[in-house]
Amino acid sequence: MVIDQMNELLSSESEAQAFSRVKELFNQLFAPGRMVWIPRDNMPPLSEPGEESYWTESGRGFGIILSHKAEVFGILELDDLAFEQYKERYLALALPLSKVCSMAIANARATEDRAKTQHALLQAARIVESSDDAIIGKTLDGVIVSWNQGAKNICGYDRDQVIGRSTSFLIPSGQYDEMPQLLEKIRAGQSAGSFETVWRTSDERLLNVSIQVSPILNDQGKVVGASSIVRDITLEKQKVERERASLNAQLQQAQKMESVGRLAGGVAHDYNNMLGVIMGFAEMALEKVLPEDPLHSDLMEIQSAARRSTSITRQLLAFARKQTITPVVLDLNKDVEQMLKMLQRLIGEDIDLAWHPQPDLWTVRLDPSQIDQILVNLCVNARDAIEGVGKITIETKTVTIDESYCADHLGFRPGDFVMLAFSDDGCGMDEATLNQIFEPFFTTKGVGIGTGLGLSTVYGIVKQNNGFINVYSEPGKGTTFRIYFPRFDGKSVESFLVAKDKAPIGLGETLLVVEDEASILKLIAKILTPLNYHVLQANSPSEAIRLAEEYDGRISLLIADVVMPEVNGLQLYKRLKTMIPGLKCLFMSGYTANAIAHRNMLDDGVNFLPKPFSKIDLTVKVRAALS
Ligand code: ADP
Ligand code: MG
Repeated sequence: MVIDQMNELLSSESEAQAFSRVKELFNQLFAPGRMVWIPRDNMPPLSEPGEESYWTESGRGFGIILSHKAEVFGILELDDLAFEQYKERYLALALPLSKVCSMAIANARATEDRAKTQHALLQAARIVESSDDAIIGKTLDGVIVSWNQGAKNICGYDRDQVIGRSTSFLIPSGQYDEMPQLLEKIRAGQSAGSFETVWRTSDERLLNVSIQVSPILNDQGKVVGASSIVRDITLEKQKVERERASLNAQLQQAQKMESVGRLAGGVAHDYNNMLGVIMGFAEMALEKVLPEDPLHSDLMEIQSAARRSTSITRQLLAFARKQTITPVVLDLNKDVEQMLKMLQRLIGEDIDLAWHPQPDLWTVRLDPSQIDQILVNLCVNARDAIEGVGKITIETKTVTIDESYCADHLGFRPGDFVMLAFSDDGCGMDEATLNQIFEPFFTTKGVGIGTGLGLSTVYGIVKQNNGFINVYSEPGKGTTFRIYFPRFDGKSVESFLVAKDKAPIGLGETLLVVEDEASILKLIAKILTPLNYHVLQANSPSEAIRLAEEYDGRISLLIADVVMPEVNGLQLYKRLKTMIPGLKCLFMSGYTANAIAHRNMLDDGVNFLPKPFSKIDLTVKVRAALS
């Protein structure tokens, strides 16, 4: 019985278990009336050092110290023994027994500690094993001593293929191996940090990896090895590369558009002036020739060809952002609505036009005629892209763009915008076409069908108004253009149309015309003089001032080109106004260069005549400016 109990006691797995078995054993053997356990910290000072037992105060029992080697566990006190007359014999038996018991307790404690350590180690091993990263242990010479599942997953090699080797076999030939140098640093007690490199896998793939190397220390804090945590960053790297390439392509595209724009703008400006002259003289010649005259139809041809060319130069100027515009604050919804009927006529009955305005849209500041240009161009393109029956959707929406979106979309700015989306379910475009659509004269349509100027016009208009444009298209699936205009808070105005068919007559007013292009100056005088105006012609601002000083009568209106060599039209007007109070003005320009406050825009309400102009345009504007 006792032997069994002793055996059980000696195989205890925890200190607590061993201890309760000790108490049970003592209880059975000595049947004390009272048994007290005094743990080491509560033990009274013992009278003699080295004393292992004592008699209790009652005299009916004893206390016995449980200790093993240098370690004291506490005192077990057995009092009121049932057979106290045998207490001396009992103590003699208890003493050696206590030795065995103490040993059992010490054993149990060690077993327990070992189990705990093992558990902790196992846990650590599991964490290492289950990591997606490769965790590789090495000696200071670089020999691999441990290799987790993550390492196998990343490199493809099994543990037994790599243990005992160096990681250098993973480095593709010709590539520098940084590891030996890092291990050198670690040996010297320095931290090694991390680096990126390329590894070759067991199936010959190349991986981008980031490796963090740290020292492994022993219990005394001495460096005994190095661990590498290796992460596969191939996909991340590829993503970054792709993003960089795409940003680069976008930048190049933007630069190309910029230089093409400058070229187109310059050419168009000069052509515009000449076209104005051609149109004006053709118009006047027509008035002198009877309709029956064969010359009449020739002149008509000249006039209509010039008009067609004008629309080309106008589009080029729009693309080059050199179109002179008169922006007003407007509600895009209202402007699109006004155009819907016209657009539906443009696309025909087979194509359905859906309109989804967002109510309470923010206002924007734009020239309404530019909205028309955008809508017409996009509509014609959508119509051309749809074969037979199809659908076009126009939408408006308020959009707030944040920094993160701008980070990978070149040309976008954070802020509040009004978006105009224009979608069709037509033929769509492939990547190569998409890359060129905004270039002037790029067209995939046959000669005489496409001019390749539609989208470049749209592009220029959007840029001129500090907006941006985004296209999504897939072959066979359709196309969506999204145009963003910056929010501009203000009271919106209704855009209106002016009826113009007959040239209004003057009331004998005197007009001072300043224009450095001699042929245009002559043309204006030729148009206005027969219409009951007195025209003073100046080919420069200084000439204009001289004329104004010399002239006896009253000058009512200054008609001036905005861009002139000496001073610009606005400055000239300011000078003349001090001499002639109440002087009115009408500005003309093919485009406004930096003359107009560097903005390419005229302030709201200024009388402005875009070049080239027809006789009607000129006379209507002159009347409007005078009244
Ligand atoms: P054009 O219409 O005169 O060809 P654009 O500048 O308007 O010139 O358009 C350039 C090219 O872009 C078109 O020739 C066509 O290939 C393509 N494109 C424009 N809009 C669309 C669209 N909605 N669907 C498919 N392709 C389009
Ligand atoms: Mg087009």
